[in-house]
Amino acid sequence: MATFKRIVLASRPKGQVTPDNFRLEEVPVPSLKDGEVLIRNHFLSLDPYMRMRMEDVKSYAAPQALNETMIGGTAGEIVESKNPKFAVGDKVVGMMGWSEMGVSDGTLLRKVDTAHIPLSAYLGSVGMPGMTAWYGLTQIMQPKEGETIVVSAASGAVGSVVGQLAKQRGCRAVGIAGGKEKCAYVVDELGFDACIDYKAGNLEADLAKATPNGIDAIFENVGGEIFDACLARMNAFGRIALCGLIAGYDGEPMAIRNTRAFLTMRLTMRGFIVSEHPELWPQGLKELGTLVATGKLKFRESVAPSLEAAPEAFIGLLKGKNFGKQLVKLV
Ligand code: NDP
Repeated sequence: MATFKRIVLASRPKGQVTPDNFRLEEVPVPSLKDGEVLIRNHFLSLDPYMRMRMEDVKSYAAPQALNETMIGGTAGEIVESKNPKFAVGDKVVGMMGWSEMGVSDGTLLRKVDTAHIPLSAYLGSVGMPGMTAWYGLTQIMQPKEGETIVVSAASGAVGSVVGQLAKQRGCRAVGIAGGKEKCAYVVDELGFDACIDYKAGNLEADLAKATPNGIDAIFENVGGEIFDACLARMNAFGRIALCGLIAGYDGEPMAIRNTRAFLTMRLTMRGFIVSEHPELWPQGLKELGTLVATGKLKFRESVAPSLEAAPEAFIGLLKGKNFGKQLVKLV
């Protein structure tokens, strides 16, 4: 009997995620019903939101169920089809989870063209993370030419796109990232105007140097002291796209201390969840796809070699060990 591997949530984390929160299983390949397709997943996307789903708390989505396949975006290929909309060999992006194979009735399954865009990019710059950057920048920050924007976790899947899109709109783009190597990449390869290494210990002074005219808009991915330092540099009527608070996902939630800046600088902050805005995805993905296909939007990937390596890679993502979009190669 043909089988494939999948990873389920074995237990909910108490504090930091550990490998024993996950369990690897081997399951039989199911036979298809009419309307279904069988997909072999080539790549699994690891994303910070998975950490929040591992907890049984009120959130924008239901918690990940115990003993079920871990949620996750995947890119793969149709290997069997009983659905007239999909043919064997079609490349598809879907939500098949931490699993080598998956069955779908076609819902939320998107055919993609890999002639000019690599399959893996549909999980990064031309997928959910890219769309997140596009949404926060264009819909919430709405930067004007000449304004200064700051983005934290700047070398990552979302942050790297934010800064490049902002530069294309004539802004001064300043990143914040952990370590010299990540910062050098953000400036030299991605073309940001500056990048601050928050691990170097001079966050406030370095941020002041990099933002001589203050900050007009923030794309917040991290929270905690990084966010507070940015708030202290905000200009009047600044906008904040609150995208993520990763510094607090794997432990205690981070407080925002610099609340005074909201009053004195009359700031607007909006949290958002990119999946809630499906009507804008075609527009955003079109821009992102064109930019990647023409080499105007650069990206980098960290690729774990197999499904077995996914838990460790995920734990690493929450500690900043990834450099660019974190993926798992499945086949
Ligand atoms: P990244 O590729 O940026 O990887 C995560 C990065 O976060 C790490 O590489 C690390 O970078 C940084 N990081 C991790 N822990 C800490 C910490 N304690 N303090 C500071 N930085 C930390 O991930 P994504 O681009 O996929 O996601 C970035 C953010 O966007 C996350 O907060 C995520 O939850 C959010 N997000 C929100 C969405 C929405 O709809 N609202 C959708 C998608 C993502 P470094 O080494 O530079 O510190």
